[in-house]
Amino acid sequence: MDIVVCIKQVPDTEELPHIRVNPETNTLVRESVKGIINPFDENAIEEALRLREAKGGRVTVVSMGPPQAKEALRKALAMGADQAILISDSSFAGSDTLATSYTLAMGIRKIGKFDLLLLGKQAIDGDTAQVGPGLAEWLSIPQITYARKIEVNGNQIRAERTLEDAFEMVEVTLPCLATVTKEINIPRYPSLKGLLSAKRKEVLVWGADDLSLDRKRIGLEGSPTQVIKIFTPQPPPKGEILTGEIPEVADRLIEKLRERKIL
Ligand SMILES: Cc1cc2nc3c(=O)[nH]c(=O)nc-3n(C[C@H](O)[C@H](O)[C@H](O)COP(=O)(O)OP(=O)(O)OC[C@H]3O[C@@H](n4cnc5c(N)ncnc54)[C@H](O)[C@@H]3O)c2cc1C
Repeated sequence: MDIVVCIKQVPDTEELPHIRVNPETNTLVRESVKGIINPFDENAIEEALRLREAKGGRVTVVSMGPPQAKEALRKALAMGADQAILISDSSFAGSDTLATSYTLAMGIRKIGKFDLLLLGKQAIDGDTAQVGPGLAEWLSIPQITYARKIEVNGNQIRAERTLEDAFEMVEVTLPCLATVTKEINIPRYPSLKGLLSAKRKEVLVWGADDLSLDRKRIGLEGSPTQVIKIFTPQPPPKGEILTGEIPEVADRLIEKLRERKIL
């Protein structure tokens, strides 16, 4: 069973105090922040490895991002993936979810035949959960989102989807795409052997010229979404605690509410 897993390198939220937004471009200043594999994508890698262990086949991990996203791909190799591909080119900068899913789709077409495409349910930085559905559309394959359990029997996949107040069981014929939630498994840590073998494996890098792309669909030009503004919300003003005897505190409270024209 050939499985492709899409992984995104995201800023480590433990580094939150260091995360900055460029006020001119409204994008994250990513260079100064440590990158990790998007946590839901680790679940997608784990699920792919478990399916390969049960059914045989190959696991390929793909990321679109800047050169430092190679680190995320190396970790996926250390966990046990067979092959890693970084889709990277300065012309992809500024991509929104439509351009990102298009570019990933063109990369996956270049990989060739696959049975299952796995993604995390959403990225913890962008948080849109749009790349999976977008990718399925570009590749014209069925999609299952928010899968918390997956079983493959022959050319059928049966998945349990998490809905707001229920679970839904769906069956789809392969090839298909699934996005997974945290409940699906506990991702493994890379073993020492895995870490050593990952060092010896090459991460393939594909740029825009390596893919059969429509240049109008990539980067800023291919991105209909415009980020108007990104800002850090101001903390709410501090409250005031009134102390003293209850009748006196009640009088002062009424006075303050009148001052603010609440009463
Ligand atoms: C106008 C605009 C400009 C932007 N400019 C930039 C920019 O310059 N640089 C930048 O880094 N971001 C930029 N972004 C953000 C970027 O579009 C999103 O981060 C990206 O499209 C993925 O969306 P998401 O994070 O919401 O992923 P989601 O849709 O929430 O992710 C779902 C799943 O899709 C997969 N996935 C998502 N992204 C990738 C990826 N890149 N590679 C492999 N798998 C992936 C993962 O499995 C993930 O779990 C920009 C966004 C907009 C709207």
